[in-house]
Amino acid sequence: MKEIIPVTKPYLPSREKLNKYIDGIYERNWLTNNGPLVQELTKRLEEYLGVENLLLISNGTLALQIAYRALGINEPANGKPAEAITTPFTFVATSSSLKWEGVNPVFVDIDKDTWNLDPELIEEAITPQTRAIVPVHVFGNPCDVEAIHEIAERHQLKVIYDAAHAFGVNYRNESVLKWGDAATLSFHATKVFHTIEGGAIVFKHKKDLEKAKALINFGITGPDQISELGINAKMSEFNAAMGLCVLDDIIHVFQDRKERYERYMGRLSSRLERQCLNEHSSLNYSYIPILLDEENVLKDTLEVFSDNDIYPRRYFYPSLNNIDISSSCLTLPISESVSSRVLCLPIYSTLKAEDIDGISNIVNSVGGRL
Ligand SMILES: *Cc1c(COP(=O)(O)O)cnc(C)c1O
Repeated sequence: MKEIIPVTKPYLPSREKLNKYIDGIYERNWLTNNGPLVQELTKRLEEYLGVENLLLISNGTLALQIAYRALGINEPANGKPAEAITTPFTFVATSSSLKWEGVNPVFVDIDKDTWNLDPELIEEAITPQTRAIVPVHVFGNPCDVEAIHEIAERHQLKVIYDAAHAFGVNYRNESVLKWGDAATLSFHATKVFHTIEGGAIVFKHKKDLEKAKALINFGITGPDQISELGINAKMSEFNAAMGLCVLDDIIHVFQDRKERYERYMGRLSSRLERQCLNEHSSLNYSYIPILLDEENVLKDTLEVFSDNDIYPRRYFYPSLNNIDISSSCLTLPISESVSSRVLCLPIYSTLKAEDIDGISNIVNSVGGRL
């Protein structure tokens, strides 16, 4: 049978190495609650990423929710539910997490070239209820962080970056995670760096980190002391063990992806519209997004792909202003247009060169026609 080619496959590190970590967990019999492997992974990630105040979380969605709470943006504003200005062109968790915390997502359109939140449109969307801006570095491409920072300062808003795609990305030679009051990561199995399920928050200020530490552990702040409303969002030792193994191999993970990324770049037609990348940024090769001319062309392309057992994904469709969690019913033409025409092509460590050539041929012949 022909092998199916999915959009991504999780990276699996050496089983032997993972077993050694698991032996340690068995010896210590310490399975969760800020165990030694969670502490080690925290330190090693801070070093690798070049950041401080990193907190490991059980997944990337709770990382967003904890960040909102630690920064107080879920609190009502002027007696009404708080609002956060965010992008409709992202994975649903960016805005469902806001809604889940009682914050209304207010969608603002994206830039037609970078596909990130358009800073020019933010100010007109600010109301007395606005507490935060929640942008996404879409496909690891850094937002216009300076412009967003300036708007946030002027209006005293918090900024929480959903940086789920931006693991290892540097902006002007420093981690892009340093921007914002907080930046969140997802370590889901499908992401470049993973812990099976997991995530992290990088806080700008240590006091917010300390608050979040209590929030992820039921609000417990000491023996017999529960200071506030918390939840359970802790990472387990088994997840940290996987993370330590993947982190040991991260150079190879990036190298494998870089080779595949470059092969695609050499083969995909230059006629295809691509995301306009931030010129001060490094790449993490996490996604291969392409933009087709029309949704019909995208559908035809998908059909040919599925006849060949190849399954690219429509990241991100639909535009989130068109789903139920949105209280407003705006049309956001750029997000809707990009969202209806964008396709992410398969990329993972074991993807074969000949498959990249085959995928590129299909894109060029079916997707590139008109
Ligand atoms: C993956 C992802 C999330 C959610 O992370 P989980 O770890 O799956 O909960 C949030 N935002 C974006 C942009 C993502 O890609």
